[in-house]
Amino acid sequence: MKRVAVIGYGGQGSWHCSQIINSDVATLAGIYDIKESRRQVARDNGIFVYESNEAIFADKSVDIVVVATPNDVHENLVIEALKSGHNVICEKPVALSVEEFDRMVTAQNESGKKLTVHQNRRWDVDFLGVKSVIESGEIGDVLRAESRIHGSRGIPSDWRCEKAPGGGMILDWGVHLIDQMLQLIPEKIVSVNCVTTHYTNKEVDDGFRLELSFEKGKTAYVEVGTYNFLAMPRFYMQCRNGSLYLKDWQHNAKVAKLTKWIEKDVTPVQNAAGITKTMAPRDGETLDEYEKEKPLSDVHDFYRNFCAAVDQQSEQLIKNEEVRRVLLVMEAAFASDKKHQTVAVNI
Ligand code: NAD
Repeated sequence: MKRVAVIGYGGQGSWHCSQIINSDVATLAGIYDIKESRRQVARDNGIFVYESNEAIFADKSVDIVVVATPNDVHENLVIEALKSGHNVICEKPVALSVEEFDRMVTAQNESGKKLTVHQNRRWDVDFLGVKSVIESGEIGDVLRAESRIHGSRGIPSDWRCEKAPGGGMILDWGVHLIDQMLQLIPEKIVSVNCVTTHYTNKEVDDGFRLELSFEKGKTAYVEVGTYNFLAMPRFYMQCRNGSLYLKDWQHNAKVAKLTKWIEKDVTPVQNAAGITKTMAPRDGETLDEYEKEKPLSDVHDFYRNFCAAVDQQSEQLIKNEEVRRVLLVMEAAFASDKKHQTVAVNI
């Protein structure tokens, strides 16, 4: 069992603590938070509270340090934890820039310890359902992938609505959805276009629309909205031999698989003031429609994998080169939004 200490006992730090307490590979050594009120909540929950972050770094019985502080406070803590001989799990987005992340990776390489990022949404059942259909090849190669998440409550009114601590939806939800998209389409990205929205907040984006073009012609669209009172589907995929539609994580994916391209005679359908053959819906003669059961997923596998990777027993699942690619896409997205232009990239 690995001993894990958590820095930052807010929303996500508490989540890590409950994961660790219920883990079959890790035990909770304790926490530290700069706010006394949060330290008191931890004590009330029966959790050991260190005197400072330095006290965690000095504790050689700790194998892994989790950094769950606001986004602008990751870098120094990650580097100090690595330098003091600890493996590190850092919350997403790991850094506010690629430059910042590169300094963390340099510290990791010099320490001989491991650094990973908590991209936990790789264990989301909606994403895994789509991934399994794509990987099975049953509806062929992806032509276009669309991934959206829509809420209607604006940005939480904490540090997420300010620029300096790394607020905004590109950094908050975008980092997850882009990471998932690059898992679905691992090819080289050649252009990025992004438009942010500011319906409820001027300082940071409360949503964005991001278009990615890949070297071999595939395209992807990632959208986050916090001012949508009716949500668009979570995933929509156009593939060479069919389409996939997934409403949200509670629903099964709907798949329509093309069994025959040509019909002898398409009967025109009446729509509004005219008739059309082009848009006439297909039927069972050329299309096989079915649902895919949601796959099983266990987010504890994140800790299981990292603990095994620390022991050199397994390959680390969330790889730093993948995390870096996502950061490069986010930097390009910010640049595109600022210039009101599509930017050419080689990511
Ligand atoms: P939060 O504001 O609820 O908690 C952050 C805590 O860190 C606060 O209690 C604060 O006092 C403490 N803190 C700040 N600076 C510190 C320091 N130098 N040393 C010790 N403690 C310090 O924020 P949150 O929602 O818990 O977010 C924390 C991180 O987790 C962010 O990076 C966020 O993006 C990430 N997060 C990830 C997920 C996910 O699903 N992976 C979900 C939510 C948040």
